[in-house]
Amino acid sequence: MKHTDIAKVLRDASLMGQEVTVCGWVRTARDSAAVAFLEITDGTSFSRLQVVVDKNNLSLDPECTKCGASVRAKGIVVKAFKGDGAELNATEVTLLGKCPSEYPIQKKRTTLDFLRGIPHLRLRTNTFAAVFRVRSVAAQAVHRYFHERGYYYINTPLITASDCEGAGEMFRVTTQPWDAKYESEEAYYKDDFFGKKAGLSVSGQLEGEVAATALGRIYTFGPSFRAENSNTTRHLAEFWHIEPEIAFAELPDVLEVAEEMVKYLIRAVLSECPEEIAFFDKFMEPGLRDKLTHVAESEFGVLDYTEAIEILKKADREFKFPVEWGCDLQTEHERYITEEVFKKPVFVVNYPKEIKSFYMKQNADGKTVAAADLLVPGVGEIIGGSEREADPDKLLAAMKVRGMDLSAYEQYISLRTFGTVPHGGFGLGFERFVMYVTGMENIRDVTLFPRTVKNIM
Ligand code: ATP
Ligand code: MN
Repeated sequence: MKHTDIAKVLRDASLMGQEVTVCGWVRTARDSAAVAFLEITDGTSFSRLQVVVDKNNLSLDPECTKCGASVRAKGIVVKAFKGDGAELNATEVTLLGKCPSEYPIQKKRTTLDFLRGIPHLRLRTNTFAAVFRVRSVAAQAVHRYFHERGYYYINTPLITASDCEGAGEMFRVTTQPWDAKYESEEAYYKDDFFGKKAGLSVSGQLEGEVAATALGRIYTFGPSFRAENSNTTRHLAEFWHIEPEIAFAELPDVLEVAEEMVKYLIRAVLSECPEEIAFFDKFMEPGLRDKLTHVAESEFGVLDYTEAIEILKKADREFKFPVEWGCDLQTEHERYITEEVFKKPVFVVNYPKEIKSFYMKQNADGKTVAAADLLVPGVGEIIGGSEREADPDKLLAAMKVRGMDLSAYEQYISLRTFGTVPHGGFGLGFERFVMYVTGMENIRDVTLFPRTVKNIM
């Protein structure tokens, strides 16, 4: 269907005085005997186009004035009556699809919670359309950032036989129903599709290491799955994960990449989505624009886990979860550190080895590992990363302590046997990043169809 994007009509000065055809959905309409004003959007820009219909010269189907109706309008682009934009003096308006009054997206502001119940229609609102435009711009920027720096884009398997973290948060992949004839779990899995227990991957890191120890610098950008049984505003069962893996790199190199990448993504969103950010600044998080501009220009903090514990212990604040050296940082702790103490993004580094994964490089103190989490105000952890253990003996020891099945990791271990190198990487939760740059407070509101405990719509 030949037509011009509304974004182009609004921005391209050369179209002034020209005849164009636009298509879109009516967001608001003002109708009188002589004239009708239809504000329409086609998704290409935050701003809508006003279509002016002179009813003395043009008969207008009343259905075209209903909120949600889809229309095609032909007309002349003229200077807007208000402001310095453009509007359309219609010569022809055609109804494409009518929209009855039970359309749930009406002009009056509804709640985000209500909109969560209609995921198939909520993108018709300003808020959600803006979220998904920002999300797209950020995703493109991720690829640009790595491509410009010589990283290869790798696709790692989603179905896996090994659980990356060694933890039990994996969804099972199976084709066979349970049958009482099986005497053991093992016998059951033997008959299953892959002949062994399989699941949806929680991370592409282990395979990413395979690629990085041949290609040098790689990244993945794909879905990860976590069977988290926690109903929080920051956890999804299916989320998008950006995982660079870098050979010949130590922890400080990993931090440098993470910081540079986050700033690059923020700058891309600021420059490509000014209207969206202005909207979120006004309605979601006052001061958002200044926050992002400031973060893109200033240095992130770096804090040792041991110091973080000292700070938390001295805090004039009661935490739900008590703080002791050796404990995992809970969201309330993370947010205190980044929001109240640093007031900006901060890396917490060198965590106790007991609370981190087997593959993290063991520090010389014998107690901590070279791990780093990036905490940001409003969200908490958005990145988890580390230098990886490159010494085969130390890696094996760490796996044994955890009681892991070494035979399942033979290939991974052999990367350390055959020309091992210092290397590291991190995982950025893409939805958490989108929350951070939009000020949206619930991860369900930055995901098209969020999958969470007891919820799959
Ligand atoms: P958290 O402590 O917040 O549950 P994690 O430490 O389990 O996260 P990692 O295994 O370090 O997470 O994963 C790397 C990144 O992936 C996290 O920093 C986060 O941004 C993102 N992430 C992890 N789990 C989820 C989830 N269930 N939903 C959305 N994003 C997630
Ligand atoms: Mn983490």
